[in-house]
Amino acid sequence: MVGICNFQILILIMDPSYERLLKDQKPKDLKKAVLRMRKMKKGLLDEKIHELHAGAFEQINCLACANCCRTTGPLLTQKDIERISKHLRLKPGSFVEKYLLIDEDSDYVFKVMPCPFLEDDNYCNIYDVRPKACREYPHTDQKNQLGILKLTQKNALLCPAVALIFKEL
Ligand code: SF4
Ligand code: SF4
Repeated sequence: MVGICNFQILILIMDPSYERLLKDQKPKDLKKAVLRMRKMKKGLLDEKIHELHAGAFEQINCLACANCCRTTGPLLTQKDIERISKHLRLKPGSFVEKYLLIDEDSDYVFKVMPCPFLEDDNYCNIYDVRPKACREYPHTDQKNQLGILKLTQKNALLCPAVALIFKEL
């Protein structure tokens, strides 16, 4: 999720070209692409998606997007809670009470979206200590892409980088 770069520009909405990328996604085509990918060998699929991931993030600037931080909250692990509380100089219990709730799957998530740590300029206020799920999103550089194809298909409607990966597949 949202990264840090050396310059600061005020971007409050998603870059229109990223919005177009998302709007152009057709669920039917995504489904077909997933079916094709299921037929690929696990290692080859990883290689292909990792290559496209690297290419996509050369073109997409998370600071001109922040759609994940606005719409898809991360799950927070106990380690995340301890690390972020320490950074905020809060007791873990106070952090949980102030910012988190337990969802229907019994996971800790933020009480509100957009994320309370997302700044108006799309920077993450707790970038160095952000949740593991934020660091790993959209997961297209991880091993075993076959195992998370359903999630990646869903993310193609939320994350312009994933949309671009599907476009290039
Ligand atoms: S939705 Fe994707 S492109 Fe946008 S900020 Fe999140 S990871 Fe970056
Ligand atoms: S903590 Fe919030 S603002 Fe920071 S990367 Fe995660 S979702 Fe985005």
